[in-house]
Amino acid sequence: MKRVLVVEDNENNMKLITLVLEKHGYEPIKAFTGEEGVEKAIAERPELILMDIQLPDINGTKAVQRIRMVDGMQEIPIIAITSYAMAGDREKMLDMGCIGYFEKPIDPMTIVEDIEKIIKQRNNDNTGS
Ligand code: MN
Repeated sequence: MKRVLVVEDNENNMKLITLVLEKHGYEPIKAFTGEEGVEKAIAERPELILMDIQLPDINGTKAVQRIRMVDGMQEIPIIAITSYAMAGDREKMLDMGCIGYFEKPIDPMTIVEDIEKIIKQRNNDNTGS
């Protein structure tokens, strides 16, 4: 688990997330719109995607749908990034197969640990079934 696609239109959040990821030895790939996110997901085949829901063009839900339709991308772990206010979005994202979500504001002190926890949980669930 090294290459992480970060789809986030907010410059400050993007900076924060990618800096922390790099600090922990990950290789972030940046996308600032939903379309760019879909394109880079397909072109780069990252090992994990962090997907903001509110994006300037297509929203994160749509982007996840498109990524899931591509051959070989059904299993790629996607974690949603949601705004606190958008409670309905979280259920929608989990229904669509996201393995977890983060609420903004992103906490740079815990985000990597939280990512690793979610991945570990998912791997455990998969081994069990
Ligand atoms: Mn956004």
